[in-house]
Amino acid sequence: MELSSAFEKGWRNRLRKMEIPISVKNDEFLLHCLEIIKSGGRINLSDGLKLYNTTNLPALCSLANLVKRSRFGDNVFFNENLHVNTTNVCVLACRFCAFRKGSRHSDAYELSVDEVIHRIQPFSDSIDEVHSVGGLHPQWTVDHYAELYSKIKDNFPHIHVKSLTAVEIKHIASRSGISVTETLKLLKKSGLNSIPGGGAEILVDSVRDRICRGKENSSEYLEIHGLAHSLGIPSNCTMLFGTVETVEERLIHLDKLRIQQDETSGFQCFVPYPFLPDKTRLPEAQLATTSEIIRIIAVSRLMLDNIPHIKAYRMNIGDFVASLCINSGADDIDGTVGNEEIMHEAGSKTRLDYDKNQLSKLIISSGQIPVKRNSVYTNFEEYEAVISKAMVMPINY
Ligand code: SF4
Repeated sequence: MELSSAFEKGWRNRLRKMEIPISVKNDEFLLHCLEIIKSGGRINLSDGLKLYNTTNLPALCSLANLVKRSRFGDNVFFNENLHVNTTNVCVLACRFCAFRKGSRHSDAYELSVDEVIHRIQPFSDSIDEVHSVGGLHPQWTVDHYAELYSKIKDNFPHIHVKSLTAVEIKHIASRSGISVTETLKLLKKSGLNSIPGGGAEILVDSVRDRICRGKENSSEYLEIHGLAHSLGIPSNCTMLFGTVETVEERLIHLDKLRIQQDETSGFQCFVPYPFLPDKTRLPEAQLATTSEIIRIIAVSRLMLDNIPHIKAYRMNIGDFVASLCINSGADDIDGTVGNEEIMHEAGSKTRLDYDKNQLSKLIISSGQIPVKRNSVYTNFEEYEAVISKAMVMPINY
């Protein structure tokens, strides 16, 4: 299907010709922001903050949805993937993390290379991506990961390997006594195709110091992604919000990603997700409301003009909020996933047994068109879901 060439190119031209929703027309500030975007300008931090704080949330969502539609029409992308978390053993102890365990903990686990292959096997005919991240294992070096990726490729050559957060890469490089660049080169040669983007949290070091001391700092996160981009390894970028950061710091985070993208242009997708609380971790966390989740999606669509895709990460926000987000600027809803531990250990109740038909039904019932994509957004296939006549129909703003 010819979707890829239609996407992106000339989206501002399309935006200029699109009918402006009445709710946006009636809001002087939103109209001002629309004019900035149409003319090729950028929403700066101060306008971003005003957008985020608008009392006119439905109009903000309409504006973000308009911009999303100028880029991707009514399409919402998903892929068929499997999450494999290789180990929960981690030498760090980020305060928000419900997943990590000390190596002597009774629930600590580490999957051998063969165990990972066995995990993938039952899904291998229905997926085209493995998304694999884990803790910072005290012993595993680059050789372990190189062997893992080689074996995945030997057994399942059609599967795209999306793996390792920036801090894992930094840790592996350090454990192996080689540079990050050398580590990435070796892993790419072994089969690593892209990097998922986790671990950005908030790219403000005073916040990181409170929630994930010991992790890479914000410059290192950006630098590691930039190095990957320079080696032809695309990545995603994320944001964990609703811990201890301010709204301004969320927007600074967006701005830093935008600046990095100007330099290395390898970010494919921005994936924001809120902290999922329990009674033990980060008791001072301010927690994000549903309104804030939607505001982040909408403002990121309007500010991140150079990062094409914005994901409603349903593993974390659930199907209902995800369905609102894909009407508020998000164009992607992640994949079939199959298995997921990091968000579920933190309290997510999102179902893991969705196949592409079920996922497509969620997209259609939100008034959008499901399009199956590959991991690097170069192949697209509109998916015709089998749906019952009784199915709910679109949300209209
Ligand atoms: S967030 Fe990652 S680095 Fe931090 S403790 Fe959890 S697994 Fe370890």
